[in-house]
Amino acid sequence: MALREASNHKPERFFVENRPISKFFGQNVLDLEKLRGYVSQQAYEAVLSAVKFGAQLDRSVANEIASGMKAWAIEMGATHYTHLFQPLTDSTAEKHEAFVTVKEGKAFEKFNGSALVQQEPDASSFPNGGLRNTFEARGYSAWDPSSPVFILDGTLCIPSVFVSYTGEALDTKVPNLKSMQALSDAATAVAKLFDENVKSVRVNLGIEQEYFLVDEALFNARPDLVLCNRTVIGHTSAKDQQLEDHYFGAIPLKVSAFMKDFETEAYKLGIQLQTRHNEVAPNQFECAPVFCDAITAIDQNMMLMILMQKVAEKHHLKVLFHEKPFDGVNGSGKHCNWSICTDTGVNLLSPGKTPTKNLQFLSFFSAVVNAVYQHHYLLMAGISNLSNSYRLGGHEAPPAVMSVFAGSTLSNIFKAIENMQDLPVEEAGLESIKIVNSIPEIFPDNTDRNRTSPFAFTGNRFEFRAVGSSINVASAIYILNTAVAESLVKFRADVDALIAKGEEKSVAIMETVHKFTHESRDIMFEGNGYSREWQEESKKRGLRAVENVPDSYEVYHEDKTVKLFTGTGVLNKNEIEARYEVLNETYVKKLQIEARVIGDICLNHVLPAAVKYQNILIENVKGVKEIFGEEYKELCHSEFSTLKKISSYINDITRDVEALVEARKKANRIPDIAERAKVYSRSVKSYMDKVRYSADHLEMLVDDEMWPLPKYRELLFF
Ligand code: ADP
Ligand code: MG
Repeated sequence: MALREASNHKPERFFVENRPISKFFGQNVLDLEKLRGYVSQQAYEAVLSAVKFGAQLDRSVANEIASGMKAWAIEMGATHYTHLFQPLTDSTAEKHEAFVTVKEGKAFEKFNGSALVQQEPDASSFPNGGLRNTFEARGYSAWDPSSPVFILDGTLCIPSVFVSYTGEALDTKVPNLKSMQALSDAATAVAKLFDENVKSVRVNLGIEQEYFLVDEALFNARPDLVLCNRTVIGHTSAKDQQLEDHYFGAIPLKVSAFMKDFETEAYKLGIQLQTRHNEVAPNQFECAPVFCDAITAIDQNMMLMILMQKVAEKHHLKVLFHEKPFDGVNGSGKHCNWSICTDTGVNLLSPGKTPTKNLQFLSFFSAVVNAVYQHHYLLMAGISNLSNSYRLGGHEAPPAVMSVFAGSTLSNIFKAIENMQDLPVEEAGLESIKIVNSIPEIFPDNTDRNRTSPFAFTGNRFEFRAVGSSINVASAIYILNTAVAESLVKFRADVDALIAKGEEKSVAIMETVHKFTHESRDIMFEGNGYSREWQEESKKRGLRAVENVPDSYEVYHEDKTVKLFTGTGVLNKNEIEARYEVLNETYVKKLQIEARVIGDICLNHVLPAAVKYQNILIENVKGVKEIFGEEYKELCHSEFSTLKKISSYINDITRDVEALVEARKKANRIPDIAERAKVYSRSVKSYMDKVRYSADHLEMLVDDEMWPLPKYRELLFF
């Protein structure tokens, strides 16, 4: 039935604009320029300095801004407003309030300064890792003036930060904002070695979003997709991605109608979407906006995910942002293209034409690589969660171990720098000058791509590819920013120490580049990151792979990590602990849901279908016996064998589901959440694998007509 319904879903456009994009781009966003038309000059300047210097908005200004926003929102047809924040769950949270108020029988729209700058999402319990007692139940969300408000679905959305009443961060945005500041300070100090005029440095981010599309009717017919966003059972399709005919192939009409619609709506929100294409797996796609400052890029990515879901509803489609919705085909990532740029407009990761420009580039490049080396395990743990673990380090996936790919041109330059190490000390200085002066113009080859590297240099930026498609990348980005900030502080201090010893500046810088490069050489890897050799080689080099997600979270307790976050002021000890707890808690909850779902599906869908088919076979055998007498034994040879197999899988499933339930119950009794997560990751998960094995074999045996769930082949091909 679901299949019939799915085949009735035809391509159609719902959001058609006849105007050129430039005429409606950003129309649903109240940027600073527009806000200016709704508030006094004084209020406008107050917002401007809040954006630029993080100044606080005082109450009277907030009131004025709120009424300006209200006026605009009502003109735009909005009826509600909501603070939109980024809790530790990787999604966004919203609670809508109506503008309309009735007083003495008269209705009017109300929205004042306190509703703008502070809201208490009471009674809602967001994970907080003990930072907020439930009886205290107080956490505040407050507008982050650096993110403009916008309208989505008739609601004025106010991008907010979310903090506890003690001011500690309950979201991913606060630490991200702090990490940007830490990075800006540290990078500015290093950039000043080359140009005194640099006053600040910002992070640029271009986020590529991969996703799967599934027909809504088929999605609804699969309880696992509805509840877990992934299939917990399902035999691979005879054809999936082996022909590689989907990648960059023609986009199906149904999909392109959806893409055009969400692009139109995204443009209205000021999201500059640039690319769209098919991905490797069937029904897998990707879109990417043009890069912009990291905070905006992340806000926009979160908006885009909400928007895509909403638009998909119209098209009877479901967007799967899950990292691994289907076993056996590629998973989805969210590649983070990351670079740093000065207020004078220089991309610090762009190699230049002159030796000094190149020296600047080499300084920043080596500082980033060193940061990635020092915190390689934390960076990987930072992107590890249950869903991404099915993609990285899972059955057919590459191991979750960090490495940096530089491309052949650069890695040769770094080898040359590395070799300085063998020179006698007194000559090292000379050699430095020689290298500084002889660094050729660097043309990193843009096409020199390595798709197997989790962290690849692509000409003028790094591409953090291991990040999962469903997460809020803020949590990956603030770890990266903070690690790089720490590394740049060290870099500048080392250069200063050499200069203090009387070394010439460019030599001091080159020596430091050499030191940083030498220290972090083990993280550089140009080969195939998916190969077995690399698995062994990386171990030999002492690189730590994330083999088990809850185990990796222990990195938050390591001295190095605590020092990193507290030293830069990005997270305090309580906040680190809170994140550690929430990560473990989320892991357990998600796995618990999956474990329940696989049990239910098997007992309520798979087994009844298997028994039914078994009965049909039995009837068939009886019929053959009636007609042919004793000869039936020979004639029904294959039925007997199928019947036996089915019986054995039925028994296995029954036994393993029981064991799964027991394992879950036992794990649930463990009071310590981190301990519980570890037990879940081992025992519960291993029973799930067993159950799936039998269910997938039954799928191959039972009559197709009787199979109760849409199969991979139906889900993956339009
Ligand atoms: P590919 O799939 O080849 O990696 P895409 O064009 O899909 O490339 O995405 C590349 C992303 O990188 C885009 O979002 C683009 O705007 C972004 N990008 C380009 N240059 C930079 C840069 N200097 N800093 C950050 N992001 C960048
Ligand atoms: Mg890419």
